[in-house]
Amino acid sequence: MAVKKNTKYVYHFGAGRADGDGSMKNTLGGKGANLAEMAGKLKLPVPPGFTITTDVCTYYWANKRAYPKTLKTEVEANLKKIEKETGKVFGSKTNPLLVSVRSGARSSMPGMMETILNVGLTLETIPGMIQKTGDERFVYDAYRRLIMMYSDVVMEKAAGIEPKDDKGIRKILDEMLHEVKAKRGYKSDTEITAKELKELCAKFKITVKKVLGKEFPDNAMEQLWGSVGAVFASWNGKRAVAYRNIEKIPHEWGTAVNVQAMVFGNMGQGSATGVAFSRNPGNGDSHFYGEYLVNAQGEDVVAGIRTPNPINRWSTSGHGGDNDSLEKIMPKAYKELDAIQKRLEKHFRDMLDIEFTIENGRLWMLQCRVGKRNGIAAVQIALDMVKEKLINKEEAVLRVSPAQLDELLHPIVDPKAEAANKPLAKGLPAGPGGANGVIVFDSETAIKYKEAGKNCILVREETNPEDVEGMRAAQAILTSRGGMTSHAALVARGWGKCCIVGCADLKIQGKTAVIAGKTFKEGDFLTLNGTRGLVYGGQLAMLDATEGNANLNNFLKICDAVRRLKVRANADAPEDAAKARQFGAEGIGLFRIEHMFYGEKSEKPLFALRKMILSATEAERKAALKELFPFMKSDIKATLKAMAGFPVTIRLMDPPLHEFIPHSDDAIKAISKALGISAQQFHQRADVLKESNPMMGHRGIRLGVTYPEITTMQATAIFEAAAELLKEGLKVTPEIMIPVVCVETEITDQKPLVDAAYKDVLARLGKKINYTVGTMIEIPRAAIMSAKIAEVADFYSFGTNDLTQMTFGFSRDDIGGFLPSYLEKGILKADPFQQLDQAGVGFLIRHAVKEGRGVKKALKIGICGEHGGEPSSVEFCHREGFDYVSCSTFRVPIARLAAAQAQAKENATKKTGKAKTAKKK
Ligand code: ADP
Ligand code: MG
Ligand code: MG
Repeated sequence: MAVKKNTKYVYHFGAGRADGDGSMKNTLGGKGANLAEMAGKLKLPVPPGFTITTDVCTYYWANKRAYPKTLKTEVEANLKKIEKETGKVFGSKTNPLLVSVRSGARSSMPGMMETILNVGLTLETIPGMIQKTGDERFVYDAYRRLIMMYSDVVMEKAAGIEPKDDKGIRKILDEMLHEVKAKRGYKSDTEITAKELKELCAKFKITVKKVLGKEFPDNAMEQLWGSVGAVFASWNGKRAVAYRNIEKIPHEWGTAVNVQAMVFGNMGQGSATGVAFSRNPGNGDSHFYGEYLVNAQGEDVVAGIRTPNPINRWSTSGHGGDNDSLEKIMPKAYKELDAIQKRLEKHFRDMLDIEFTIENGRLWMLQCRVGKRNGIAAVQIALDMVKEKLINKEEAVLRVSPAQLDELLHPIVDPKAEAANKPLAKGLPAGPGGANGVIVFDSETAIKYKEAGKNCILVREETNPEDVEGMRAAQAILTSRGGMTSHAALVARGWGKCCIVGCADLKIQGKTAVIAGKTFKEGDFLTLNGTRGLVYGGQLAMLDATEGNANLNNFLKICDAVRRLKVRANADAPEDAAKARQFGAEGIGLFRIEHMFYGEKSEKPLFALRKMILSATEAERKAALKELFPFMKSDIKATLKAMAGFPVTIRLMDPPLHEFIPHSDDAIKAISKALGISAQQFHQRADVLKESNPMMGHRGIRLGVTYPEITTMQATAIFEAAAELLKEGLKVTPEIMIPVVCVETEITDQKPLVDAAYKDVLARLGKKINYTVGTMIEIPRAAIMSAKIAEVADFYSFGTNDLTQMTFGFSRDDIGGFLPSYLEKGILKADPFQQLDQAGVGFLIRHAVKEGRGVKKALKIGICGEHGGEPSSVEFCHREGFDYVSCSTFRVPIARLAAAQAQAKENATKKTGKAKTAKKK
């Protein structure tokens, strides 16, 4: 790595000054930047220290674990500064300074990296420490902690030693500590005497030598550099790497190292350490919330060694009362802490997570960062902060992530019940939320249970379109095979149903399921957490997170006030349309006519459709279409009615013909009879319909081209339905969408049929209808030839499922075999069927939008693929000037949020852009 001259590698903070500030997270890491902000700008009581930059970490890994040449002198100079500010000297026999060595990446990686406390404590410095503090017990307590942390972090983990039988040095030493307690009958660490601690430290050192083959270094400088190296090493520790992969944190970032003067919460009854939040991170309550321990150090609060006490009366949940609260025990320090947290919240304008220590009554701030919170709290806090005028609406929408909002949209397993039960198995979290119910193994049984008013969970190896009714009836779906885009996953997501797929520990044998060795029969209870993919045996309690959720609606109203992009729903049934309205959809972006041939009440229309498909002559076909017509019209009418006042995009039929050819003997007999043909003739006709690649076969508008009467019938059904509703005084706006178009002449061939149907209906029913005829852009050629297509289309809707399929040449139904390898190897960063491929598919879209709008400025543009509800894809649509996104009903609130976030981000960049140009002037 090239190193610039005069690069500053070390930044000082403390005593009311700091070299850096809160904006320097990339260089100083989150912890270092905020320590600088607190010490420098806010002049809060922060123990002085310095931060070694993330650049050094990058250098360290690029140069075989070596440091830049100038680092040593910079560190020494900064150590001198701390010595001056504390009046202590690192390594001094009489007046020793101890430091902590703390990791700190740009974004927090809780528990993934290491921190070492009490560095500088050695056989040489111990006497001075004892003399200064007059507390031998405290000093040996600090020493035993140092030996434990140092041997674990520096001598074992950073050295790459894999402990035998998973029993690392820390565990071994911990057991020795416990032995002492057990022998004496002590309940708490604080009861161990100075003498016992001193003896323990000596034994610790012998054990360390024995287990790790090296002496514990009793030299302050050696400890310091050992710790610094170990923190850098921990950046590429197994846990840290795995965590970054999950959280998508770049591996290039590196961590900073913070070296900071120690303050001691373990100096007796006047000392304490704690962790607090400026608001309740579990429910968003706007009260200061936290826990602390008297006479403790570092991670004791989090580690659960002793049960911590609440800091005030707002923090007593799960504790007893507030008799032992910090507010009551140390009122002065509490008051100061409370005032500081208020100031911090005003300054950072967000809920903060704060670490503090009280040394002999004196308060020190050790860390502050934006606090993690669950969905319920995130929404509550965002709403409160708008009300308090701490943030504006645009900031508020950026404070709740789509995943957090999702938490509010589904019933969940009661977290208390989950904490008390161990999951049996884990699968892929395909449909969020929770559910419990009895196991059923097939669709029919699921429907039976549903009719009997009982919750059931459909358990299958995988699902297929024939299972949809059962899937709809079931409370949740669990499959042993399939990925996040499998049939089960897609369908469940569309309905907002809890679903776990690819649960490898589930084996189905007939009517029994074996989950991780445990056998379940039909009627046995299961509970699923679809948000995390966890499967529990038995019936765990549930919480309905949405019920009468005023917060959710108020928050979404804020989103609506911010966003420009409209949000519609993909809905094929009147119930779905009504639900979509409840979720705030502003129309339907995709109504698939062929949906009426699936599921409930589909028998009769499906029969008519089969007749139409198997017709050999125009007369036969027309007869079948006539039969089909009333079903189609009433279906369309019901949905138009449910969406009255809003536009509805109705896509002409795009039926996968082969899927509709009957297979059972009974069905074949019935159809043959209706058509007046023999079984042999039936098979002849069915053979003709067989295609070797149906996905690219006789589908979509190609049907209308060969059989114009199919288009005419559909258009007539749409217009009659619309005219009748208009007569009822409802406002309806049908947008007729032609699918699978690749060339503009397909539209010029078909549009006249639609217009003729309209004229016919107008003559008969006398109602003017405000309709448009547009197309789905789902074939690359159509996108490429947009300038031509726009001349004859009133609107575009990007069908990004097929467009992705055909741009990649990936069959969506067959990606299971190879996509996992692509993702694992990093050949693809994300599943392009979940997250729009903005580079490739996005290139086609951008081109089509530009060319299309070049021809027709007001060309209405939307998206109706699965991507319409995926936040990063919604942002893309916003940026590219789309009019709307359309997504499955249950994702409408997520899309409202994502659209608002896209707008808020755009406004924020505009503002900084303006500020920059203003500065230049
Ligand atoms: P993490 O990133 O895991 O929170 P920290 O670097 O914050 O790790 O260290 C963990 C804990 O160690 C802190 O919460 C604090 O209690 C303690 N600690 C760190 N530095 C000091 C210090 N200089 N003085 C006293 N305690 C410290
Ligand atoms: Mg911390
Ligand atoms: Mg399509």
